[in-house]
Amino acid sequence: MLAMACVAGARTAQMAARSVVSTRLAGRPLARWLSSSSTRAAGVEPVRAFEVPCGQLSVTMLPALQDNYMFLLTHKDNPGQAVAVDSGDAHMHLEYCKEHGLDITHLLTTHHHYDHCDGNTALAATFLNMPIVGGDERIPKLTHLAKHGKAFKLFNSTTTARVIRASGHTVGQVAFFIEAPDATPLLFSGDSMFSAGCGRLFEGTPDMMFQTMLRFRELPPNTLLFPGHEYTVSNLKFALAYAEEHRSSSPCSAEAVQAQLQRALNLREKGQPTVPTTLAQERTFNPFFAARSADELAAIRAAKDSF
Ligand SMILES: [Zn+2]
Repeated sequence: MLAMACVAGARTAQMAARSVVSTRLAGRPLARWLSSSSTRAAGVEPVRAFEVPCGQLSVTMLPALQDNYMFLLTHKDNPGQAVAVDSGDAHMHLEYCKEHGLDITHLLTTHHHYDHCDGNTALAATFLNMPIVGGDERIPKLTHLAKHGKAFKLFNSTTTARVIRASGHTVGQVAFFIEAPDATPLLFSGDSMFSAGCGRLFEGTPDMMFQTMLRFRELPPNTLLFPGHEYTVSNLKFALAYAEEHRSSSPCSAEAVQAQLQRALNLREKGQPTVPTTLAQERTFNPFFAARSADELAAIRAAKDSF
Protein backbone atom coordinates (compact mmCIF):
# COMPACT_ATOMS: atom_id res chain seq x y z
CA MET A 1 0.00 0.00 0.00
CA LEU A 2 2.84 2.36 0.77
CA ALA A 3 4.30 4.22 -2.19
CA MET A 4 6.50 6.59 -0.23
CA ALA A 5 9.91 6.12 1.28
CA CYS A 6 9.72 5.20 4.95
CA VAL A 7 12.85 4.20 6.78
CA ALA A 8 11.67 1.89 9.52
CA GLY A 9 15.16 1.42 10.90
CA ALA A 10 15.54 5.11 11.59
CA ARG A 11 12.32 5.21 13.56
CA THR A 12 13.67 4.10 16.91
CA ALA A 13 16.44 6.67 16.80
CA GLN A 14 13.98 9.36 15.83
CA MET A 15 11.65 8.43 18.67
CA ALA A 16 14.54 8.62 21.14
CA ALA A 17 15.66 11.94 19.74
CA ARG A 18 12.37 13.68 20.29
CA SER A 19 12.12 16.10 23.14
CA VAL A 20 9.06 15.40 25.23
CA VAL A 21 7.38 17.77 27.64
CA SER A 22 4.34 16.67 29.57
CA THR A 23 1.19 18.65 30.04
CA ARG A 24 -1.76 17.69 32.19
CA LEU A 25 -5.52 17.61 31.83
CA ALA A 26 -7.81 16.57 34.64
CA GLY A 27 -4.87 15.47 36.74
CA ARG A 28 -3.25 13.06 34.31
CA PRO A 29 -0.76 13.37 31.48
CA LEU A 30 -2.50 13.71 28.16
CA ALA A 31 -0.50 15.56 25.59
CA ARG A 32 3.21 15.47 24.92
CA TRP A 33 4.91 18.02 22.75
CA LEU A 34 7.02 16.26 20.19
CA SER A 35 9.81 17.82 18.25
CA SER A 36 11.97 15.84 15.89
CA SER A 37 14.02 18.82 14.81
CA SER A 38 17.29 17.14 15.76
CA THR A 39 16.65 14.41 13.19
CA ARG A 40 15.90 16.76 10.31
CA ALA A 41 18.11 18.70 7.96
CA ALA A 42 19.15 22.13 9.19
CA GLY A 43 16.74 24.83 8.10
CA VAL A 44 13.82 22.44 7.62
CA GLU A 45 10.92 23.14 9.95
CA PRO A 46 9.86 20.05 11.93
CA VAL A 47 6.26 18.91 11.75
CA ARG A 48 4.64 20.14 14.95
CA ALA A 49 2.70 17.42 16.68
CA PHE A 50 1.03 16.68 20.02
CA GLU A 51 0.70 13.07 21.07
CA VAL A 52 -2.24 12.06 23.25
CA PRO A 53 -1.87 8.55 24.72
CA CYS A 54 -5.28 6.89 25.15
CA GLY A 55 -4.39 3.41 26.47
CA GLN A 56 -3.81 1.00 23.57
CA LEU A 57 -4.62 3.79 21.15
CA SER A 58 -2.77 7.04 20.66
CA VAL A 59 -3.81 10.21 18.86
CA THR A 60 -1.26 12.49 17.22
CA MET A 61 -2.63 15.99 16.71
CA LEU A 62 -1.14 18.01 13.87
CA PRO A 63 -1.97 21.74 13.98
CA ALA A 64 -2.52 22.83 10.37
CA LEU A 65 -3.51 25.88 8.35
CA GLN A 66 -4.68 28.71 10.59
CA ASP A 67 -6.31 26.86 13.47
CA ASN A 68 -7.20 23.38 12.19
CA TYR A 69 -6.29 20.08 13.78
CA MET A 70 -5.54 17.02 11.66
CA PHE A 71 -5.10 13.65 13.33
CA LEU A 72 -3.27 10.35 13.10
CA LEU A 73 -4.59 7.46 15.17
CA THR A 74 -2.25 4.58 16.04
CA HIS A 75 -2.54 1.32 17.99
CA LYS A 76 0.23 -0.20 20.13
CA ASP A 77 -0.17 -3.64 18.54
CA ASN A 78 0.06 -2.30 14.98
CA PRO A 79 3.30 -0.38 14.71
CA GLY A 80 3.80 1.35 11.41
CA GLN A 81 0.06 1.77 10.74
CA ALA A 82 -2.03 4.89 11.20
CA VAL A 83 -5.57 6.04 10.52
CA ALA A 84 -5.79 9.67 9.40
CA VAL A 85 -8.69 11.94 10.29
CA ASP A 86 -9.31 15.09 8.21
CA SER A 87 -6.45 16.18 5.98
CA GLY A 88 -6.49 19.84 5.07
CA ASP A 89 -2.76 19.70 4.37
CA ALA A 90 -1.45 16.46 2.84
CA HIS A 91 2.15 17.65 2.99
CA MET A 92 2.10 17.69 6.78
CA HIS A 93 0.47 14.27 7.02
CA LEU A 94 2.98 12.83 4.56
CA GLU A 95 5.99 14.44 6.21
CA TYR A 96 4.98 13.19 9.64
CA CYS A 97 4.37 9.67 8.31
CA LYS A 98 7.71 9.68 6.57
CA GLU A 99 9.51 10.79 9.72
CA HIS A 100 7.81 8.17 11.87
CA GLY A 101 7.58 5.26 9.43
CA LEU A 102 3.79 5.18 9.25
CA ASP A 103 1.49 3.85 6.51
CA ILE A 104 -1.96 5.42 6.46
CA THR A 105 -4.44 2.52 6.19
CA HIS A 106 -7.68 4.58 6.25
CA LEU A 107 -8.60 8.24 5.85
CA LEU A 108 -11.71 9.41 7.70
CA THR A 109 -13.17 12.72 6.50
CA THR A 110 -15.79 14.50 8.60
CA HIS A 111 -17.08 16.88 5.90
CA HIS A 112 -16.41 18.44 2.53
CA HIS A 113 -14.95 21.84 3.52
CA TYR A 114 -11.51 22.29 1.97
CA ASP A 115 -9.69 22.70 5.28
CA HIS A 116 -10.75 19.14 6.17
CA CYS A 117 -10.20 17.37 2.84
CA ASP A 118 -7.85 19.36 0.61
CA GLY A 119 -5.22 16.68 1.26
CA ASN A 120 -7.37 13.74 0.15
CA THR A 121 -6.16 13.67 -3.44
CA ALA A 122 -2.47 13.65 -2.54
CA LEU A 123 -2.94 11.08 0.22
CA ALA A 124 -4.95 8.84 -2.14
CA ALA A 125 -2.13 9.08 -4.70
CA THR A 126 0.41 8.04 -2.06
CA PHE A 127 -1.40 5.36 -0.08
CA LEU A 128 -2.88 3.39 -2.93
CA ASN A 129 -6.17 1.52 -2.26
CA MET A 130 -6.60 3.36 1.05
CA PRO A 131 -10.33 3.59 1.90
CA ILE A 132 -11.54 7.18 2.28
CA VAL A 133 -14.64 7.20 4.46
CA GLY A 134 -17.08 10.08 4.86
CA GLY A 135 -20.74 10.97 4.82
CA ASP A 136 -20.88 13.36 1.87
CA GLU A 137 -20.34 12.74 -1.85
CA ARG A 138 -18.72 16.18 -2.15
CA ILE A 139 -15.61 14.85 -0.37
CA PRO A 140 -12.74 14.42 -2.86
CA LYS A 141 -11.68 10.85 -3.61
CA LEU A 142 -14.35 9.41 -1.32
CA THR A 143 -14.40 5.61 -1.64
CA HIS A 144 -16.91 4.68 1.09
CA LEU A 145 -20.06 6.74 1.64
CA ALA A 146 -20.86 5.90 5.26
CA LYS A 147 -24.17 6.76 6.87
CA HIS A 148 -25.21 7.00 10.51
CA GLY A 149 -24.69 3.79 12.46
CA LYS A 150 -22.23 2.24 10.03
CA ALA A 151 -19.40 0.52 11.90
CA PHE A 152 -16.12 -0.77 10.54
CA LYS A 153 -12.91 -2.25 11.90
CA LEU A 154 -9.45 -0.71 12.09
CA PHE A 155 -6.01 -2.06 13.06
CA ASN A 156 -6.56 -5.74 12.25
CA SER A 157 -10.07 -5.63 13.74
CA THR A 158 -8.90 -4.66 17.23
CA THR A 159 -10.63 -1.29 16.97
CA THR A 160 -14.13 -0.25 15.93
CA ALA A 161 -15.07 3.01 14.24
CA ARG A 162 -18.72 4.03 14.25
CA VAL A 163 -20.17 6.74 12.04
CA ILE A 164 -22.45 9.24 13.79
CA ARG A 165 -24.58 11.68 11.81
CA ALA A 166 -23.39 15.15 12.81
CA SER A 167 -25.31 17.49 10.53
CA GLY A 168 -25.90 21.17 11.27
CA HIS A 169 -22.66 22.84 10.14
CA THR A 170 -23.09 20.95 6.83
CA VAL A 171 -25.86 18.50 6.02
CA GLY A 172 -23.54 15.62 5.12
CA GLN A 173 -21.24 15.92 8.12
CA VAL A 174 -20.40 12.83 10.18
CA ALA A 175 -18.37 12.25 13.31
CA PHE A 176 -16.30 9.15 14.03
CA PHE A 177 -16.54 7.38 17.39
CA ILE A 178 -13.61 5.05 18.03
CA GLU A 179 -13.51 2.24 20.58
CA ALA A 180 -10.92 -0.42 21.38
CA PRO A 181 -10.28 -2.70 24.38
CA ASP A 182 -8.11 -1.01 27.00
CA ALA A 183 -8.39 2.37 25.29
CA THR A 184 -10.26 5.56 26.11
CA PRO A 185 -13.16 6.09 23.67
CA LEU A 186 -12.56 8.87 21.15
CA LEU A 187 -14.82 11.20 19.20
CA PHE A 188 -13.58 13.02 16.10
CA SER A 189 -16.26 15.66 15.68
CA GLY A 190 -15.00 17.76 12.76
CA ASP A 191 -16.83 21.10 12.77
CA SER A 192 -20.00 19.85 14.46
CA MET A 193 -18.88 20.18 18.08
CA PHE A 194 -15.91 22.17 19.34
CA SER A 195 -14.66 22.47 22.87
CA ALA A 196 -17.14 24.91 24.46
CA GLY A 197 -18.86 25.48 21.12
CA CYS A 198 -20.52 24.13 18.00
CA GLY A 199 -20.04 24.81 14.30
CA ARG A 200 -21.79 27.61 12.45
CA LEU A 201 -25.01 26.47 10.81
CA PHE A 202 -24.00 26.93 7.17
CA GLU A 203 -26.30 24.28 5.71
CA GLY A 204 -28.28 22.77 8.56
CA THR A 205 -30.83 23.91 11.11
CA PRO A 206 -30.66 24.39 14.87
CA ASP A 207 -32.76 21.25 15.24
CA MET A 208 -30.23 19.23 13.21
CA MET A 209 -27.41 20.49 15.45
CA PHE A 210 -29.46 19.77 18.59
CA GLN A 211 -30.05 16.19 17.39
CA THR A 212 -26.30 15.90 16.77
CA MET A 213 -25.62 17.03 20.35
CA LEU A 214 -28.16 14.49 21.66
CA ARG A 215 -26.41 11.70 19.76
CA PHE A 216 -23.06 12.76 21.26
CA ARG A 217 -24.65 12.92 24.72
CA GLU A 218 -25.40 9.19 24.45
CA LEU A 219 -21.68 8.39 24.21
CA PRO A 220 -19.66 7.40 27.30
CA PRO A 221 -18.91 10.45 29.51
CA ASN A 222 -15.17 9.70 29.45
CA THR A 223 -15.07 9.95 25.64
CA LEU A 224 -12.28 12.30 24.55
CA LEU A 225 -13.39 15.04 22.16
CA PHE A 226 -11.08 15.82 19.23
CA PRO A 227 -12.65 18.72 17.28
CA GLY A 228 -11.49 20.11 13.94
CA HIS A 229 -10.37 23.53 15.22
CA GLU A 230 -8.68 25.25 18.14
CA TYR A 231 -11.52 27.68 18.88
CA THR A 232 -11.73 27.06 22.61
CA VAL A 233 -10.69 30.43 24.03
CA SER A 234 -13.05 32.48 21.85
CA ASN A 235 -15.84 29.96 22.48
CA LEU A 236 -15.34 30.23 26.24
CA LYS A 237 -15.29 34.03 26.14
CA PHE A 238 -18.69 33.93 24.50
CA ALA A 239 -19.94 31.19 26.85
CA LEU A 240 -18.87 33.28 29.84
CA ALA A 241 -20.63 36.40 28.58
CA TYR A 242 -23.76 34.37 27.83
CA ALA A 243 -23.74 32.65 31.24
CA GLU A 244 -23.29 35.97 33.05
CA GLU A 245 -26.06 37.61 31.09
CA HIS A 246 -28.47 34.68 31.56
CA ARG A 247 -27.57 33.61 35.11
CA SER A 248 -30.94 32.05 35.88
CA SER A 249 -31.42 30.21 32.59
CA SER A 250 -28.00 29.43 31.06
CA PRO A 251 -27.34 25.69 30.74
CA CYS A 252 -23.80 26.24 32.08
CA SER A 253 -22.76 28.16 35.18
CA ALA A 254 -20.55 31.22 34.76
CA GLU A 255 -18.20 29.76 37.39
CA ALA A 256 -17.65 26.54 35.43
CA VAL A 257 -17.05 28.48 32.23
CA GLN A 258 -14.69 30.91 33.94
CA ALA A 259 -12.60 28.06 35.38
CA GLN A 260 -12.30 26.42 31.99
CA LEU A 261 -11.43 29.72 30.32
CA GLN A 262 -8.56 30.21 32.75
CA ARG A 263 -7.30 26.71 32.05
CA ALA A 264 -7.54 27.25 28.28
CA LEU A 265 -5.72 30.59 28.47
CA ASN A 266 -2.92 28.99 30.49
CA LEU A 267 -2.51 26.22 27.92
CA ARG A 268 -2.52 28.59 24.94
CA GLU A 269 0.05 30.79 26.63
CA LYS A 270 2.36 27.77 26.67
CA GLY A 271 1.57 26.98 23.04
CA GLN A 272 -0.39 23.87 24.03
CA PRO A 273 -3.71 22.68 22.58
CA THR A 274 -6.79 22.99 24.78
CA VAL A 275 -8.14 19.67 23.55
CA PRO A 276 -8.96 16.92 24.09
CA THR A 277 -11.54 17.37 26.80
CA THR A 278 -14.01 14.73 27.94
CA LEU A 279 -17.69 14.83 27.08
CA ALA A 280 -18.42 14.93 30.82
CA GLN A 281 -16.35 18.11 31.11
CA GLU A 282 -18.04 19.63 28.07
CA ARG A 283 -21.46 19.22 29.74
CA THR A 284 -20.37 21.75 32.36
CA PHE A 285 -19.06 24.57 30.13
CA ASN A 286 -20.32 24.03 26.57
CA PRO A 287 -23.73 25.74 26.31
CA PHE A 288 -24.47 24.10 22.93
CA PHE A 289 -23.71 20.61 24.19
CA ALA A 290 -25.72 21.27 27.38
CA ALA A 291 -28.67 22.96 25.64
CA ARG A 292 -32.02 21.51 26.68
CA SER A 293 -33.94 22.11 23.45
CA ALA A 294 -33.44 23.01 19.81
CA ASP A 295 -34.96 26.42 20.53
CA GLU A 296 -32.44 27.05 23.29
CA LEU A 297 -29.56 25.99 21.03
CA ALA A 298 -30.92 28.28 18.30
CA ALA A 299 -31.00 31.24 20.68
CA ILE A 300 -27.46 30.61 21.91
CA ARG A 301 -26.20 30.13 18.34
CA ALA A 302 -27.82 33.41 17.29
CA ALA A 303 -26.20 35.19 20.23
CA LYS A 304 -22.81 33.68 19.33
CA ASP A 305 -23.13 34.69 15.68
CA SER A 306 -23.45 38.33 16.69
CA PHE A 307 -20.97 38.21 19.58
ZN1 LIG B 1 -16.31 23.21 8.11
